[in-house]
Amino acid sequence: MRAGHLLLSRSSLSHLLLIFTLLSTFTAASFVRSRAPSPQRTAGAASRRDLISDTVENILHPVIHFAPTVLGISINNKGLQLDNGTNPNDPVQVSQALQTQPPPIDLGQLLQDITPNYNTSKTLDSACSAIHTALPNNDYVGRVCTTPECIQSTTHYYNARQAGNRPACVTYPTSSQDVVTIMKLLREYDVTYAIKAVGHSTGYNFTTALGFSSTTGILIDMSKMKAVSYDASTGIARWEPGQSWGELATTMAQYGAQVVGGRLGAVGPGLSFGGGISWYSGQVGFASDTTHAFEIVLADGTFIIATQDNQYSDLWWAAKVGMNSFGIITAVHSRTLPGTTTYGGSVIFPTDKMLDVLGAYANWINGGADKCKKGFVLPAITDFFVESLITRLNIFEFFFDGTDPGECFKDFNIINTLYDDRKVQPYPDFLNKALTNQQFVFSGFNNALYSSVTDLINKDQLLAIYNAWEEYSVQTSGAYLQNTLSFSVITKTGLAASQANGGNAMGVSGGDGYLWVCYAEGSIPAIGALMDTKLFGLTPQAAQAVPKSQRKLPLYANYARLEQKPFLTYGGIELLRQIKKKYDPDNFISSHTTGHDFY
Ligand SMILES: Cc1cc2nc3c(=O)[nH]c(=O)nc-3n(C[C@H](O)[C@H](O)[C@H](O)COP(=O)(O)OP(=O)(O)OC[C@H]3O[C@@H](n4cnc5c(N)ncnc54)[C@H](O)[C@@H]3O)c2cc1C
Repeated sequence: MRAGHLLLSRSSLSHLLLIFTLLSTFTAASFVRSRAPSPQRTAGAASRRDLISDTVENILHPVIHFAPTVLGISINNKGLQLDNGTNPNDPVQVSQALQTQPPPIDLGQLLQDITPNYNTSKTLDSACSAIHTALPNNDYVGRVCTTPECIQSTTHYYNARQAGNRPACVTYPTSSQDVVTIMKLLREYDVTYAIKAVGHSTGYNFTTALGFSSTTGILIDMSKMKAVSYDASTGIARWEPGQSWGELATTMAQYGAQVVGGRLGAVGPGLSFGGGISWYSGQVGFASDTTHAFEIVLADGTFIIATQDNQYSDLWWAAKVGMNSFGIITAVHSRTLPGTTTYGGSVIFPTDKMLDVLGAYANWINGGADKCKKGFVLPAITDFFVESLITRLNIFEFFFDGTDPGECFKDFNIINTLYDDRKVQPYPDFLNKALTNQQFVFSGFNNALYSSVTDLINKDQLLAIYNAWEEYSVQTSGAYLQNTLSFSVITKTGLAASQANGGNAMGVSGGDGYLWVCYAEGSIPAIGALMDTKLFGLTPQAAQAVPKSQRKLPLYANYARLEQKPFLTYGGIELLRQIKKKYDPDNFISSHTTGHDFY
């Protein structure tokens, strides 16, 4: 078998890499010891906890520093390495270096080689052969990649853990009909699968080791489905889900209209199958609330088009947040917004101004955003571990749909900044060039996102969440490469627009608006599980900053880890379950691909 041969011939390398993995676990622990105090750190000092016991670390100490050098890997006990001449104490210089420098290494391939998770079932082989026979234009590559395209498909994930899964084969549909064929064969052979769009999902099941968009079964890579068309008379765009938001925005610009999508150009359409927080959310609600129709292949291989007005209106409603649970979406018809010129850009605030900044943000979430429904403020407060230091980048992205934001951001504009590149610019440029897009798309690390939610809160409560995160960041410094605290406000105007467009199963009324707290971090896969546990522990801690009575809002599935079971927090969960039973009566989808639980 090809996979077996490959493993045999690579066995010595695999062993070496396995040793590296183990050593890097301990190396990470040594980061903590070698970190110098950060001049950026002004608050939240805390006692430091070791990641492993002193005894183990001391025994291994001599080899810890040696191992990464042997393998020539540039992640060592100093964290991210920057170009000579970059001052790691200067957030702006660090920010610029991070934009121009590729990440030190993409660990996806490495992880797949070290700890390949694969399934040698003969049934899977037969299913792969059948798909290849039915769709000869598709690339059949077996369990071992032989083409750059396949390597890209199986190793390039935002969360490198997903790349640990080696699929039995990869198939690249080019049309809805191809997807119908694939779905029927998946069912006939009763095999597992995953759908991959752009691979930015961080969803990962720690028990099964399977990812939301990776699998040991059959990987359906949508990247050859990128068609876009636009009907100027209705303002509706039909687009296929094999492209990133940056690509789609660039194509749509020629029509002078925009599809409401993600806030970073590098992220993909999976976002709008789980709701989707957009720069335009103050105007329209969630990205999926602008969906006029979904083209979708159901669990039994039937192709349908679901709209608000046809016999599949229940599915149209469910698919807005159902992610991969209702079928394979082959195209979306979206109501667009006119205009492609926007005002926006990135700001970095000094840490000693964060009290003022959080005060301005408290005003923004408590009324400011509702007054300025064409605007959006996205905090991405981030500690990078660079050259043995924590370098804090207090990044805030500002967006306004138009050229003049007027008084929208006035509370922020009176605060000194370290960096400010806000300007009038084409929307695709804004999406692709924002600092967060440049710096938060490090594929190949153990990247994780976690969701927490609260009602709208005051400045003191906001500060409590910030302090808890900062304390965590100090305590675990050196074990992560990037650690981010982010907030997204869901406004009254956005919720009202969502309701007006049929609403969705998250089931939040247009009442008061609310706030999602998102934690994101990137670390080395070898220590990922440990960091995951620690960061996950922070989510309830943050929620404790507000009274329990204010915590009955939904978690956000796109940001939640599997164990958080976000669907169970949805107001519309009962109806969602009924619709799921109707369209996937034998639960084929949920028992054959990884996704969020309904029970
Ligand atoms: C850096 C970063 C920034 C982010 N910014 C935002 C943001 O601004 N707003 C927001 O709401 N979320 C945001 N997210 C979360 C994002 O919405 C999810 O990670 C989303 O799943 C990414 O979709 P994808 O297509 O890139 O990923 P993928 O991993 O390819 O797919 C994600 C999920 O969608 C499923 N899927 C993909 N294609 C199909 C299809 N055709 N039919 C059915 N199911 C399918 C996959 O199986 C998988 O479960 C961000 C995430 C990251 C990592």
